[in-house]
Amino acid sequence: MMIDMKPEVQINTNYYKVEDLRSLAENTFVLTLPKSRFKFVAGQHISLSIQGDYQSREYSIYSAEEGDNLEVLVKEVDGGYFSPKLKHLKKGEMVEVHGPFGKFGLDEKRLDSHKHVFIASGTGIAPFHSMVKSYPELDYEVIHGVRYASEAYEKDTYENKRFTICASRDENADFKGRLTEYLKKAEFSENTCFYLCGNSDMIFDAMEILKDKGFDRENVTVEVYF
Ligand SMILES: Cc1cc2nc3c(=O)[nH]c(=O)nc-3n(C[C@H](O)[C@H](O)[C@H](O)COP(=O)(O)OP(=O)(O)OC[C@H]3O[C@@H](n4cnc5c(N)ncnc54)[C@H](O)[C@@H]3O)c2cc1C
Repeated sequence: MMIDMKPEVQINTNYYKVEDLRSLAENTFVLTLPKSRFKFVAGQHISLSIQGDYQSREYSIYSAEEGDNLEVLVKEVDGGYFSPKLKHLKKGEMVEVHGPFGKFGLDEKRLDSHKHVFIASGTGIAPFHSMVKSYPELDYEVIHGVRYASEAYEKDTYENKRFTICASRDENADFKGRLTEYLKKAEFSENTCFYLCGNSDMIFDAMEILKDKGFDRENVTVEVYF
């Protein structure tokens, strides 16, 4: 697969008007902002704040590099400070976007030669959504760990055979059980690179499992949310 040279990515602070809030599950939604001239590399995140509020939080970019909008996928955390405020934003209200930040991205040297296995818990699927949308030719597999199958956010984005949902509390999933249980049983070819994103417990457990399967640290890239 040939890819173009990336444009220079600059870190900026910009104010954007909320265009839309799209609900995907009971507590999870996509916040849509205008793209404007914002440039990023799939896998990177932004820091968001709300006008008049001193706090900010990081969110992976959910939309494609060349998409029409800048989107983030957010779970409203029970008792959280910031995510409930995001959920109650109205169309036309202002948010401050700082970024893009981070080096969690595809290794261009391996784009053609390797299979890409994306391992996500919850909203940790956001950067992989951006990668799959940005690189339609990519040889990938998504393994998504959630509690209920209804949390398979916009799974039609991924080819059916490339997407496995592991639901710890739901029979109605590709795999009933924790993502890590699925990983223990799964087989991967030698030329696989792994990308892990989500909560730290899942990431540490998954790294141990991959190590036991013979994949060392240089094949594994991680992004920890909390
Ligand atoms: C690089 C990076 C990228 C991130 N990308 C995303 C993203 O794409 N989507 C997203 O929803 N979140 C993402 N997060 C987490 C996000 O920044 C906030 O931590 C989250 O929205 C909670 O903020 P809060 O103010 O509501 O909760 P806080 O008041 O800050 O914290 C409340 C508690 O919630 C825990 N917590 C944080 N996130 C979650 C979660 N998803 N589920 C359960 N508990 C959680 C925290 O550990 C803390 O104990 C990312 C974090 C990082 C570091």
